[in-house]
Amino acid sequence: MSALISNLEIRHEANAACPTNGKAGRRVDTQIVKAMLDLPLNVLRNVEYRFCPDPDCPTVYYSADGSQTFTETDLRERVYQKHPQDAGVFVCYCFRHTLGETLAEGQRVAAEINLGIKNGQCACDIRNPQGSCCLGNVNAIVKRALGDASVIQ
Ligand SMILES: [Zn+2]
Repeated sequence: MSALISNLEIRHEANAACPTNGKAGRRVDTQIVKAMLDLPLNVLRNVEYRFCPDPDCPTVYYSADGSQTFTETDLRERVYQKHPQDAGVFVCYCFRHTLGETLAEGQRVAAEINLGIKNGQCACDIRNPQGSCCLGNVNAIVKRALGDASVIQ
């Protein structure tokens, strides 16, 4: 029963930190955790889940109460934020563009993504481990490729 795990029912925790690195992660819809886990979904609980984007932290998702963590080995995708220097990692999970491709041909990649969005073909909320659109990351990578070191994330 998906209704058992609904964001309407869960209590939101303010600034709930990743229990592995102690930094506040981003709140995500439980739907993306369901979509990404390569585990029986019985492990999910009726709690808020968060995403830890720190490349130096192995935890990808954690429960806001800090009692449960998931690493990449629990997931069906490798996570861009955990490999920000790996040319082979996907940046755009809907249209399958890698970091290397985006660094080399960012304008084309961004145009293809925008066309896909326009055509109603994107599904970032269930495809991208961060649970939201990749375009911010793509734009930052385009700037990185242009040599603006301040945007490396
Ligand atoms: Zn972490």
